[in-house]
Formats: sequence, C-alpha cells, structure tokens
Amino acid sequence: MSTALAFVATCDLVAHVRGRSMARTSLIESGTGVGWTPANMALNAFGKIADPNYFGSLGDLRLIPDFETEITLPGFGLDPTPLHFFLSNQVLPDGAPWEFCPRTIAQNALRALHDEHGIEILASFEHEFVLMGDGTKSGVPFGLDSYRMAEPFGSQLYCELENAGLEPENWLPEYGTGQFEITLKPARAIVAADRAIIAREIVRDCARRHGVRASFAPLIPSAGVGNGVHVHLSMTKDGIPITYDPSLPGNLAKEASIALNGILAHAPSILAWTAPSQISYLRLKPHQWSAGGIAIAIQNREALLRICPVVTIGGNDPTASFNVEFRAADATANPWMVIAALAKGLAAGLADRKAPEKIIVGELENEDSVLPLPTSVAGALAALKADVVARTWFSAAFMETHIQIRESESAFLAGLDDAEKCEKYANVY
Ligand code: GLU
Ligand code: MG
Repeated sequence: MSTALAFVATCDLVAHVRGRSMARTSLIESGTGVGWTPANMALNAFGKIADPNYFGSLGDLRLIPDFETEITLPGFGLDPTPLHFFLSNQVLPDGAPWEFCPRTIAQNALRALHDEHGIEILASFEHEFVLMGDGTKSGVPFGLDSYRMAEPFGSQLYCELENAGLEPENWLPEYGTGQFEITLKPARAIVAADRAIIAREIVRDCARRHGVRASFAPLIPSAGVGNGVHVHLSMTKDGIPITYDPSLPGNLAKEASIALNGILAHAPSILAWTAPSQISYLRLKPHQWSAGGIAIAIQNREALLRICPVVTIGGNDPTASFNVEFRAADATANPWMVIAALAKGLAAGLADRKAPEKIIVGELENEDSVLPLPTSVAGALAALKADVVARTWFSAAFMETHIQIRESESAFLAGLDDAEKCEKYANVY
C-alpha cells in the first residue's frame, strides 16, 4: 500500500476535469488546498490555451476542496490503494473568490434565485454515452442483449456510483449503437451538478479499468444518435414543492410556468452555455429526440422543455416528483454552468412575470409559437451577445473568456468535415 493520495479537481469551461494531487492527510490538515494557474481556465477542449485570453502567464490560485464531495476511485492494476477525489472552488491566494470559478458562479446564481425569489431548484442529470474500443459489442436498442454484453461493466459502474453516494437510478442500454445511459436521483441543484461531474468521471474510470472507453461527445456518428444531457428541474419554496398544480394546463403551477418562461425567452443565450461545442448543433435538430424547437410541451421529447408525466400508480402523490426536463445540454458543457444558466433563466422569468405563450399538447409541427433553436454555437454566442438581459448574468470578462475558447475551437477544427470534427470530440469527451 502506498500513501493515500487525494486528487483535488475542478471542472473548467470546456467541462474537462483537471487538478492535482497531494497526500490526503496533508490536504486535510493544511486547509489551504493546492496551487492552480488562472490561464488553465482558457484551455479549449483540445488542450490548447485560447489566444488571446485574459490571464496570460500571470497570477496564482488555490483549489480549495469541498470535503463533502469526497469519493474514492478504486486502485489500479497491482496497487490496491484507492485514489481520493474532491471537487473544489478556485480562489485567490488570500482565499477571496475568483470571478472565473464556475462552481462559485453556480453557487452565486442559486443564492441569488433564493434571495430574490425564495426559490430553490432540485435537479437530476441524465447522461448518455457510447462504449467504444476493442471488444465492445452492441445488440438491439434498449435490449437485454446490449445490457448483458456490457457486463460486468454495467453492474460494477452502478455499484461504484452507489458507493460514491451519487444515488444512481436507472442504468439502461439506449437507442444508439453501443449507447448507454445512467440517471441519478434528484438533489439540490449544486449537489446535482457536482454529482454530474463526478458521475462522468466514475463512468470513464470504470470503463478504463475494463479496457474500453466511454465517450459522452454530443454526436458519435457510429452510434447513429446524439448523446444528450437532460436536466430534470423542479422548484421548492421554504422546502415545499411548488411545481405541481393538477388544476392547470400540463399540471404546471403558475409560478413555475412563469419561471420556466424565462428559459424559453432566453433559450438561445442559455444554449451558448449548455451546448457550447462545434458539434453540439449536429445533435440539436428536429426529429432526433434531442430538442427540436423552443417550446414547453407535455411529454414531448422534441421540446426544449418537456413536462414529464404524472405517475399516480398505487395512489402515488406526484407533488414532490413532478418535474420539467431541459433537453438541450450536452457533455461539452460544464454542469455548474448548465445549472447557473438555468437558474438565471428561471430568475429572469420570475422577474418578467409572463406565462409561456402556449403549453403544447401533441407534436411541435404546425405550432406557430415554436421558435427554432440556434443552428451553431456561433449563432448561440451571437444571441447571447445581443441579449441585453442574459449578457449581464455573468461578468463580461468571464463571458468573453467563454467566447475566446469557442473561437479557438472553431479555428482548431477549421477545414474538417462534420465526421472529422465528431471524431476529434469523441477522443476528448
Ligand atoms: N439521445 C437523445 C438526445 O440526444 C435522447 C433520447 C432520450 O429521450 O433519451 O438527447
Ligand atoms: Mg436517453
């Protein structure tokens, strides 16, 4: 057995989990975390630092672990020593918050929603991914054969997620070739985002130990469909669920529908954060069961916001579990920024006090109220820059950093066709 190491991690604007390790005992004793570099926040998905960027070669940060987020990853090969893993906030060396830390930004957005409107969000993330590499096999969509071909990976993954306290719910073979999905139970939004980050790393780590690769890239052409990240949302006030009202259309309570209208009203700007890659919009097209238009609709998998079913079997009370699903995120987005953007959207709706123009029943076709989603990340970023409300949600320098990263990815991929771009993303997500 060797010294128990602890990896102190952050998740950056391109949703890569990075950090460094030290002895767990020293980390806990010191309370000062580990050192970190501002320019790391300007890294693009492909490991290149965007140029220009705000940080240059200057400055220093500390990654301060949140001890509540601790998990352990099993030892590798001959060494049974587990690796301890913590998520962290990025702070200045004197402990002051760093304006570019996505976890702090999410915490601030959730605090503002609570302070200004008394509302808290419960969220649950669904993750789709494709198992790739030598020896991976695939059966029929949703099939027991697909499920069994992925054993013993699947059972072990579920067990590791449970041991990590992530409360997995469903583990399933999905529609695409080699595609699977893991869902987690709802939790307070910041916990849900933390868990989303950790869950993906557990999936990747477990796959690695089984000699295969798990890719969460938004579109893997061989799979035939996209990998989505769907975020289920419900709201509480003073701990009491406020999303469900069976007397109203879609069973959606008035205050909840007003809040959700903020997500519809600022959808293109929100997508700039939730679907930020060069290939995100190959997934977000009509008839892909991803999200095909800006709409809120009852049990419709083409809507940006899908009102989920009310389950009353055996007298089940749906008040607490009733939720609405945001379908236009993918794994190239930082889960903290997904939650931050959604919280800002809800707060904007509550400030604006307008109900959705229409809660759609049935398919989206022929519905005049359905606006198209952006068709590229450049389009989403242009919408964000033009949105006088959404462009003030986060600091100008933070937004500019996001744009610089996306421009550097666009330059990096220039000249490649869609399939080549997808391959590049499959290699890094
Ligand atoms: N794979 C689809 C997506 O990209 C989702 C399918 C489903 O409804 O689970 O979002
Ligand atoms: Mg799915």
